[in-house]
Amino acid sequence: MIKKFIRKILGVKDERDPTEPVVLGPEEHGIDLKLVSPNAIRLTQTLQEAGFKAFVVGGAVRDLLLGVKPKDFDIATDATPEQVKKLFRRAFIIGRRFQIVHVMFGQELLEVTTFRGNGSNNAPKDEHGRVLRDNNFGPQHEDAARRDFTINAMYYDPATQSVLDYHGGIADIREKTLRIIGMPEARYREDPVRMLRVVRFAAKLGFTIEPTTRAPIPVMAPLIDNVPAARVFDEMLKLLLSGHALACLKELRSAGLHHGLLPLLDVVLEQPIGMKFVTLALESTDSRVKAGKGVSPGFLFASLLWHQVLEKWTAYRAAGEAPIPALHLAADDVLETQTDNLALQRRIATDMRDIWAMQPRFERRTGKAPYKLLENPRFRAGYDFLLLRCESGELEMEIGEWWTAFYEAEAGERERLVTQANRPAPVAGEKKKRAPRRGPRNRSSEGADAGAGSNAGSSDSAPTVSNIRE
Ligand code: ATP
Ligand code: MG
Repeated sequence: MIKKFIRKILGVKDERDPTEPVVLGPEEHGIDLKLVSPNAIRLTQTLQEAGFKAFVVGGAVRDLLLGVKPKDFDIATDATPEQVKKLFRRAFIIGRRFQIVHVMFGQELLEVTTFRGNGSNNAPKDEHGRVLRDNNFGPQHEDAARRDFTINAMYYDPATQSVLDYHGGIADIREKTLRIIGMPEARYREDPVRMLRVVRFAAKLGFTIEPTTRAPIPVMAPLIDNVPAARVFDEMLKLLLSGHALACLKELRSAGLHHGLLPLLDVVLEQPIGMKFVTLALESTDSRVKAGKGVSPGFLFASLLWHQVLEKWTAYRAAGEAPIPALHLAADDVLETQTDNLALQRRIATDMRDIWAMQPRFERRTGKAPYKLLENPRFRAGYDFLLLRCESGELEMEIGEWWTAFYEAEAGERERLVTQANRPAPVAGEKKKRAPRRGPRNRSSEGADAGAGSNAGSSDSAPTVSNIRE
């Protein structure tokens, strides 16, 4: 009794048998079955009819409990990957670190995982304690304990419409709390990416990170360095494309995760001059994501790193390089560091370079140059980027307005705009130089929106850089 009282005062939850879940019926959890993918219902039903357990699990249950339509459905079962594969026509076993089965229903992909067991205590780890491979299967309660946060460790059975909650996830959903399951230090050591996940969920859901879950993060943050760059990059991309990128970056900073870990974030978060630009870029990304529009990672990363490019561009020009080669040298430098550290995929890096390389061409508004730029398959991405530069105060608004007018104008009106634009002279002291070609760039074009390749690198324009405020 006294023990219970003290525990209550200390805010320690009553210990329950962790092998027995709390089971909630539809009237208690309030999940709307209409939000559940019919294919997830079919899939669990097929597994159950074959004598296996099968549940919707993880983020989908969390989102359903929050009344949000899940973007994808994960299924957990006690059937082995081979047993799952046999039951479905289009099923593929994938993965090494964690073997899972991809089951396709038309366009919809469902991920089926077999319950993981505690055997993972003996799973192969790296010298820092990070689990390298883990295909030990086990009972459902062990699978629940292996998941990251309490709100991600619930199971929903569409047949009975019941939710199985092993770790107080329902209470945490109601209290808007992110709580790691088990000992936080040990869980972050096993998989440091959980530190980035908790930040993303906090920002995306507007939840608070419970103090013991948050406390070790600043100290353990350097462990992220040992995670393969491609995995960190994937997580970063999820974070930036979550529709809550700005909130995520603020949360990363407040959790102590921004320093020295991800060079990209260092750049973004620690340079006040670029902050306005980055904020505008992320605001526009967030609203595109929220409106269900596509976002190009190339455009996003080009924005995040622009001020670093700008700084180096200025330095190369000050050292005597002509503007266009200086811009390419700056782009090379920035991409080289980020490609090493963040495994920026080649395609994304190519898109970034194209967007940057197009920028000086917007400053040339004479003769055929603007018409040629308009025909560039990447024009739209370059133009959107130009507008960001104007809005952030880096360029005069006039240039963005001119391009908007030119872009939207009829042929006759365009001529008038070009004539009109020929009047202002470049700022005194800036000498025009002819830009050398940087070799042929034969790239695919996939529409004018950000994300496709372009021939922007073979610019024959002579930039004045007159509009750049340094
Ligand atoms: P979202 O898909 O919205 O990003 P999610 O929670 O569904 O969120 P997924 O990466 O799809 O995230 O993972 C599905 C589930 O797998 C999680 O809900 C969690 O239960 C478990 N999980 C994923 N990553 C980890 C991890 N690093 N450690 C422990 N459990 C994890
Ligand atoms: Mg998911």
